Amino acid sequence: MSIKSNISELVRPNIRDLRPYASARDEFRGDAAVFLDANENPYPSPFNRYPDPLQLSLKERISAIKHVPPAQIFLGNGSDEAIDLIIRAFCEPGRDAILIPEPTYGMYSVCAGVNDVAVKRVLLTQTYDLDMSAMAQAIDDATKVIFLCSPNNPSGNLLNNDSIVKLLEEFKGLIVIDEAYIDFAHGTSFAMLLDKYPNLVVLQTFSKAWGLAGLRLGMCFASDFIICVLNKIKYPYNISSQTQQLVTKALENEEQKNQWVREILNERAKLTKALKALEAVSVVYPSDANFVLAKVNNAPEIYRDLMGMGTIVRDRSKVVLCEGCLRITVGTPDENALLIEQLKKLTKEIRTNTDKI
Ligand SMILES: *Cc1c(COP(=O)(O)O)cnc(C)c1O
Repeated sequence: MSIKSNISELVRPNIRDLRPYASARDEFRGDAAVFLDANENPYPSPFNRYPDPLQLSLKERISAIKHVPPAQIFLGNGSDEAIDLIIRAFCEPGRDAILIPEPTYGMYSVCAGVNDVAVKRVLLTQTYDLDMSAMAQAIDDATKVIFLCSPNNPSGNLLNNDSIVKLLEEFKGLIVIDEAYIDFAHGTSFAMLLDKYPNLVVLQTFSKAWGLAGLRLGMCFASDFIICVLNKIKYPYNISSQTQQLVTKALENEEQKNQWVREILNERAKLTKALKALEAVSVVYPSDANFVLAKVNNAPEIYRDLMGMGTIVRDRSKVVLCEGCLRITVGTPDENALLIEQLKKLTKEIRTNTDKI
């Protein structure tokens, strides 16, 4: 049995047998002048026509930058759409499961929960790496998809490369590697290994390094077969014309993104150093992303007080293996300096308070 037929056997039977929604424009090849097929308003306005359902011209541009063929690219309304569709296509509700290492990004378990798909959780190690023997123990016949976030949110580190490769080689289901923060990392993308591993799915996004979170565009790279499955079940017009146009425009200036990344990496180093110098901060974990995880005395209190001063960070202190931690996004130089100033003020106040007791 070829590996490819294994992957097709992973697809839920109802999805495999589904005939997708087809529009007249799907059946048409060539240059039409008159469009009387889709009940659009015929009077010209920038958006009177439905967008290209498969975003072909945008995929060509993305392909040129990412070195992945257009037929191996799925575009979603954020990478969150791809996460949801992967679970819906491959996991039978009430029967199948996904496996996630913890702590990690929250959407995998939310999407699984919405779809009545069980979530198996395996703790990362103390250094936030994959615990391979615990993973192996947790995997069973119901486990269809493993989600790996690398660099991991909220810990910030890249997961061990050899461990991921081992899973790709040995696990029979899909391995989804969420690379939302890959632009900030010293590692390379697993998208380069798509030809080698038919069970590999790589997620990236325009929401972080590219500065386009408001447009909602996520990328999913996988085999032609997996991309076809996702295309079959997505909403026909999931990416608006405006998003397709604006992202196409942004892609013309990759240097802008690279410049932002350089500045953010520079600021990440400065912020890490400044945080470490604070008495109230005991650990700043090494980061391959555009945020840092910091262990802080009285984290929930600091979180609340920062909010009172108009600065919002993420309180992760109740998250497993993140006890006492805040997750702090790297901001502009001014924002980072202000944060440090506010933290100095707060931690001095907290110290004075404890002195009084
Ligand atoms: C921010 C983030 C995303 C991005 O989601 P979009 O829907 O593309 O905005 C995906 N995965 C992780 C781990 C993230 O932190």
